[in-house]
Amino acid sequence: MKIAVASGKGGTGKTTVAVNLSAFSGLKLYDFDVEEPNARIFFSGEERDRPVYRPVPEVGENCNLCGVCKDVCQYNAVVVLKDRVIVFPEICHSCGACIYLCPEKAMKEVDRKIGRIVDVFVDNKNLLTYGELEIGEVSPVPVIKAMKKEMEKDAVIDCPPGVSCPMVESVKAADFVILVAEPTHFSFHDLKIAADVVRSLEKPFGVVINKYGLPFELEQRCEKEGLTVMGKIPFRKEFAEKYSRGMLFEELREEFESIHDAVRELV
Ligand code: SF4
Ligand code: SF4
Repeated sequence: MKIAVASGKGGTGKTTVAVNLSAFSGLKLYDFDVEEPNARIFFSGEERDRPVYRPVPEVGENCNLCGVCKDVCQYNAVVVLKDRVIVFPEICHSCGACIYLCPEKAMKEVDRKIGRIVDVFVDNKNLLTYGELEIGEVSPVPVIKAMKKEMEKDAVIDCPPGVSCPMVESVKAADFVILVAEPTHFSFHDLKIAADVVRSLEKPFGVVINKYGLPFELEQRCEKEGLTVMGKIPFRKEFAEKYSRGMLFEELREEFESIHDAVRELV
């Protein structure tokens, strides 16, 4: 079973929930937040990495400067000048259209390194795998896709924040989605958007409230919206301190175990 931990808004405690759920359920953790993979602060162990590549076009000698490649590129990644063609690999989406449609067959695919996948071993056990996007790369999705290909069947996924392509790509891999929200107007607003996205993907889901106790009736609002609250993490200074030191919330072990049990029953 794969459980994705997501949130509409960044900074709601998504990584906190993902790391603790992984630790107390025994499911391996995957950090798909490849633009800012911070689950690793909870693990100190040996790291082994491998590169992730994606194909981008390269122009060869047969080019007659006809401009077809520029016209077909939907991402403006190709510019045709008077004497040469320039491809901007950072914004190329690797669709292959320009290579396929070049009348002179002057383009070929070359591999471009866009990130890496890192396994973290603690006591010889691979407890965490995280992805890391190269600086300057525009889309994290190819790194996430590469991670998905080699995922184990039981896992907790720390998703990227927001509700755009990286979050959707991550959530698609899951059997169940936990949406993390905090008791604020802003977070509730984004929670509803995230819930709509997860519904549209036809994934079962529930809500975990972080910083429970802040003066905002999030639980009641979730009820009104038909959102099931599966767990609560109290608002306490010690939890902020533990997070900043990369420590688990041992005192909430039972809470996370019961969230895991609830997910198993629902799936
Ligand atoms: S489509 Fe092919 S031949 Fe035409 S400009 Fe592009 S690379 Fe050159
Ligand atoms: S592969 Fe697709 S996105 Fe990349 S330059 Fe060619 S047409 Fe544009």
